[in-house]
Amino acid sequence: MSDLRKKWLTRPLLNLIKKVLPPISETEREAMEAGEVWWDAQLLSGKPDWDQLLNMGPPQLTEEEQAFIDGPVEKLCEMIDDWEISFEKRCIPEKVWDFLKKERFFGIIIPKEYGGLGFSPTAHADIVTKISTRSTSVGVTVMVPNSLGPGELLMAHGTDEQKDYYLPRLADGREIPCFGLTGVEAGSDAASMTDTGVVCYGDYKGEKTLGMRVNWHKRYITLGPVATILGLAFKLYDPDHILGDQEELGFTVALVPTDTEGVTIGQRHLPAMQAFQNGPNWGKDVFIPMEWIIGGQENVGRGWHMLMSALAAGRGISLPSLSTGGAKMAARMTGAYARVREQFSIPIGKFEGVQRRLAEIAGIAYVLDSAHKTTTRALDKGRKPAVVSAIMKAHATYGLRDAINDAMDIHAGKAIMDGPLNYVGNVYRAVPVAITVEGANILTRSLMIFGQGAIRCHPYLLDEMLAAENPDTEAGVTELDKLLPKHILFQVKTLLRGIFHGWTVGIFASSPKGVGYAAKYYRQLNRYSAILTLATEISLMSLGGELKRKELISARLGDVLSQLYLLSCTLKRFKDDGSPKEDRPLLEFAMRAGLHKIEQSLLEVYQNFPRRFLGHLMHFLTMPWGHSIHTASDRQARVCAELLMVPSETRDRLTRGVFLGNPGDGVDIVEQAFQKVCANEEARDKLKKGGIRMLNHDTIKEGLERNLISEEEAEKLREVADAVYKAIQVDHFDDLGQQSA
Ligand SMILES: Cc1cc2nc3c(=O)[nH]c(=O)nc-3n(C[C@H](O)[C@H](O)[C@H](O)COP(=O)(O)OP(=O)(O)OC[C@H]3O[C@@H](n4cnc5c(N)ncnc54)[C@H](O)[C@@H]3O)c2cc1C
Repeated sequence: MSDLRKKWLTRPLLNLIKKVLPPISETEREAMEAGEVWWDAQLLSGKPDWDQLLNMGPPQLTEEEQAFIDGPVEKLCEMIDDWEISFEKRCIPEKVWDFLKKERFFGIIIPKEYGGLGFSPTAHADIVTKISTRSTSVGVTVMVPNSLGPGELLMAHGTDEQKDYYLPRLADGREIPCFGLTGVEAGSDAASMTDTGVVCYGDYKGEKTLGMRVNWHKRYITLGPVATILGLAFKLYDPDHILGDQEELGFTVALVPTDTEGVTIGQRHLPAMQAFQNGPNWGKDVFIPMEWIIGGQENVGRGWHMLMSALAAGRGISLPSLSTGGAKMAARMTGAYARVREQFSIPIGKFEGVQRRLAEIAGIAYVLDSAHKTTTRALDKGRKPAVVSAIMKAHATYGLRDAINDAMDIHAGKAIMDGPLNYVGNVYRAVPVAITVEGANILTRSLMIFGQGAIRCHPYLLDEMLAAENPDTEAGVTELDKLLPKHILFQVKTLLRGIFHGWTVGIFASSPKGVGYAAKYYRQLNRYSAILTLATEISLMSLGGELKRKELISARLGDVLSQLYLLSCTLKRFKDDGSPKEDRPLLEFAMRAGLHKIEQSLLEVYQNFPRRFLGHLMHFLTMPWGHSIHTASDRQARVCAELLMVPSETRDRLTRGVFLGNPGDGVDIVEQAFQKVCANEEARDKLKKGGIRMLNHDTIKEGLERNLISEEEAEKLREVADAVYKAIQVDHFDDLGQQSA
């Protein structure tokens, strides 16, 4: 029977797989092998085991980590003047640099035995988040040495000598690192780089030494202009066969001190008016010894693998931290501003149009904060979830963009006029930087999230593809034959589950025990996990390698996976917080928005599916009733927006970790005005009841004369009026240049 099956089923299938699925290139294989799958695999199983997620518990900081955040991080934020950094000096002042070095901000992830802080991913993320709420330039400056770059690569792959020499020097800032991957021609397609090294003998410290002669031209390199050590990626060749038979040795990464002869550090770029150091560098015939390769000669050609492994975890921390900080800042300050700024004698946050946008910001901040917490918790536990990190990078930065756009619109002129009082404008300018770096978002969304997720998370597909690629065809057939029955069973279950939950709109889907009010959302996520798994199976089977070119199908399926991830983290966070009743409006708004997006993405997949019949069939099988979940109603949006416009535990919980400004600066002025407005609402209402709607010293005087308020209340209201007047001010300058008439 088995032989017959092999002959008539497995072998033809193997040939079919070979035909429809493109061969996996070396770089793709290395990207696929980097990191691991985690909760993403559960979401793509059609039946997620929620215990795996919920039992992880909330992220925790050690006493030492918390003390660092309350101490040096707080002090750093107090020292930072973002206007001075971004517009006056266009660089970080010396005293701030010295403080960063002294307190080992550049060694957050370097183990203690090497003189670093040895903090957990959660602590690292919380530190970057808080700093970013004060200054993106300083946030990026701290983020880079602690993320993808020499420090992380050395820890994972360096030789003992390299670690012993460099890590202590990186930890205390004696060495400033940067990492050079991007070149003029090679941006997103880093593998197309034209930077090369050629194996040769050369003179090093007066001795004939085996090494490489390297030529490169990099650009956009963060910290490049001040770096003392450059992590350099190049393609290595051995035309003279000094190392062996192979001529093309592949992508290699070395550490090059920037004072090496032949290295040129260019001038600075000015990225979106942000003041962190960034610039080009190049090298002409620079001779570097073999032992400068990270991990030594044995790591020749392993550069891509090393980078991908580092990205698998690092991408889940850096930009997501910056974005979460920005979104939480937007939520806190936009709510405050919408409460103190009045037009038509009403706080602007009371207008429905503004309320909806405020609720959107609150929802985004809630989801990003939840996903950020859950992801760093997984990293704390030693996971390296590559697809999840890509989801976080793309969707946290997109979320930041949406939140900041809304914050800009609500603040209007207040956020447009630049100056020290403006706390939104510079984050707005920084958003495209976050979207572009560490894998530009369009590419990440179109190619990586689903492209990698579907194959890696699938219980059998990768093994089947490897079986098809096995040069020993007989062995390949045997491997495939073992996988086949399991895969067919999986498909049958997936089909039945997808149809059942699709037709019954998830009402019979299960939910974990003890989740109470949130159970309905667990059911919906289970429903859409089943449907996504079915859609994935049909897409992979019918499109095969064509899926790679159908980027928008891949992107939309990736959006479904991403939303499932973000929403499941949101449910976990709600549970970790003790399922507070007061936070329900946030949960409600966020879940409805995310589920609606899931439905929209699926409908667009069906509508645009290249095999039209299959598109209609999937629609009929899984979403016969079309959209079944609406975004939050206007009433729900109002309730959600109001959470940002009153001081409350919910507001504090949502925006924990935001630096609230030094006395007298832009953030502090608005926050103080907000507190005063809310604390004196009763007295203000007395004026309103008496027909006095505007608040200023004259109207307060009138209210006092008409006995609407007491002298004590009048005094408080004068303070309110003064605070609000201050809060709505913007800067103006006398040194911007004169226009000759
Ligand atoms: C401020 C800043 C700091 C940086 N810091 C560093 C650093 O420290 N070290 C370093 O090595 N690099 C750094 N970079 C480079 C960064 O990683 C690249 O900018 C990024 O990889 C994109 O390359 P590119 O800008 O050349 O865009 P391009 O590659 O030209 O891409 C243009 C657009 O096309 C899209 N695209 C490209 N290919 C595809 C595809 N197949 N499918 C769909 N869309 C696609 C991209 O998503 C993008 O939207 C930095 C960049 C910036 C702006």
